Amino acid sequence: TKIDMAKFAKFCKDTGFIFQSSEIYGGINGFWDYGPLGVELKKNIKDAWWQDMVRNPPPGPDGQEIRMVGLDCSIIMNPQVWVASGHAGGFADPMVSCKAEGCKKLFRADQQWVVAYLDPRNEDTKLARLEERTEGMKSAVKEGLASKSAAERDATMDAALATSRLIAESCRPDFTKTVTASSAEEAKELATLTKQEQKMIPNLVFGYAVPLVEYMKTPKVDAPRCPACGEKQLTEPRAFNLMFESHAGPIASEENKVYLRPETAQGIFANYRNVLNSTRLKLPFGIAQVGKAFRNEINPRNFTFRSREFEQMEIEFFCHPSESMKWYEYWRDLRKKWYSTLGIKSDNLVPREQGKEELAHYSIGTTDIEYMFPFSDEPQELEGVAHRGAFDLTAHAKHSGKADDLAYFDEELWNNDSQTMATRSFKEWLKSNPTVDERSKYKYVPHVIEPSAGADRFTLAVLTEAYSEDQVPDAKGKLEERVVMRFHPRLAPVKCAVFPLVNKDGMPEKALKLYRELKAHFNVVFDDKGAVGRRYRRQDEIGTPFCVTIDGDTMTNDTVTIRDRDSMQQRRIPISEVKLEVMKSLMG
Ligand code: ATP
Repeated sequence: TKIDMAKFAKFCKDTGFIFQSSEIYGGINGFWDYGPLGVELKKNIKDAWWQDMVRNPPPGPDGQEIRMVGLDCSIIMNPQVWVASGHAGGFADPMVSCKAEGCKKLFRADQQWVVAYLDPRNEDTKLARLEERTEGMKSAVKEGLASKSAAERDATMDAALATSRLIAESCRPDFTKTVTASSAEEAKELATLTKQEQKMIPNLVFGYAVPLVEYMKTPKVDAPRCPACGEKQLTEPRAFNLMFESHAGPIASEENKVYLRPETAQGIFANYRNVLNSTRLKLPFGIAQVGKAFRNEINPRNFTFRSREFEQMEIEFFCHPSESMKWYEYWRDLRKKWYSTLGIKSDNLVPREQGKEELAHYSIGTTDIEYMFPFSDEPQELEGVAHRGAFDLTAHAKHSGKADDLAYFDEELWNNDSQTMATRSFKEWLKSNPTVDERSKYKYVPHVIEPSAGADRFTLAVLTEAYSEDQVPDAKGKLEERVVMRFHPRLAPVKCAVFPLVNKDGMPEKALKLYRELKAHFNVVFDDKGAVGRRYRRQDEIGTPFCVTIDGDTMTNDTVTIRDRDSMQQRRIPISEVKLEVMKSLMG
């Protein structure tokens, strides 16, 4: 179901989940603060991930124990890391900006489209031809861009630009328009025929958008119109790197330039050898990290969904190449299941295996776990589970010159094999005379499976999924609106609220005593203000699973009422069992 996002953002602000960063100064686009409840919610999400993935992952595909360790790397690293990873050169979008006074908007230049109009009488045949040729062009461009030299890559782009125009023309569309847009849909919208054009060419009704420069760095099309103000004044495209820059040290020189990490993964690869040496782990094993990442997104939007500062929860799982598909499937399935165990309805979760044409050039397979956010008709990425082959370790081995450090010597396999194939004395001899050839058979660069999740995106998914409005009877039996956040108890920011029914007869003291006992174990609130019904509403609104009331009976028999948020049922239980009741809900 759709939620009005503006209303929802206001709700998040009023309740203390999410605030706009530096709001008193007008805010700053793409940055958000978590309020008193939001910080608890997000912490619970990160803790659940750490507990379920790092400390207690389920057994592997063959029932084996999964070995996982954690890391907490610095945000700023030696800039060479980003050269090796490809972020320094490749993590860039070609941008153009509008020169018109009062507009100055920035747009991705690689999203210019030829919108071809076809006479409906020719529609079927022309469309088929158009699609076929567009696909052909896309794969040719992809191959070209994989080549090593910059000159070759540029040539590919130029050729592709020419080809895409030819494609549009060779299909003999009856009319074409070139526009800058972020999707084919938008392109078609922007290229709507003017009244005058419609008069000139009355039969044209069908618009088909061909990605003109989808893979292109330097589009050289006729000055397209600015999608915002319609002026024909766009600057030349230039590469815009998504990494935030700073300088380490007092001098703001090129040499001192550093970057805020755009992902946490690279810190893991850079430390792979340190982890191996310090832990004596054997393959397969995983390294996990939770931490901030920064991307200077061109167009931050949809509340916290696309921010410029966000948190990732990433795993790099290292394994033998021949076992990598098995591990890829393990992580893909486990990661999807994890979201469901935390209360995300499976209908809203869509795993989507990326098509060959979408895959990063090094990836053997990637599955995006997508979620139906209420702000969009299409599911949007929560997490990517990628089979990255040996790409990252090989790149770091090459750039750091430490190839030997990053290859893995499989001692277990070596011991096994040499035991079965040779006598003990021969094995001893081999050990003291390791020939390069013998040992190198047992040396390889591990393959890597990377489940990479966004803590903020999942927090947003949990918030929108939990949000519901319903009607409940008030004290006089009249129906009133309530907002209830149906969080899974494990994620709920507050686990339990404790109320004295009235502020007399020893009830507040008894309630405070229980409150103090419970808060040693989980987040609890104490509330003695207003009618109990009102107090329930306040807790429903922030998603507290349990409310416990100390009443007259408590004073005589030490029992309390415990009310369930979702069923609104109350039960009487001994006061000594409250802790256990709440704890039980956190398990399941
Ligand atoms: P998108 O296509 O949405 O930009 P991506 O494919 O670039 O995402 P990855 O580089 O795979 O994302 O990053 C892994 C995860 O980090 C994403 O699945 C997402 O949860 C999170 N993430 C990436 N960019 C952002 C962002 N700008 N704001 C919030 N979370 C993000």
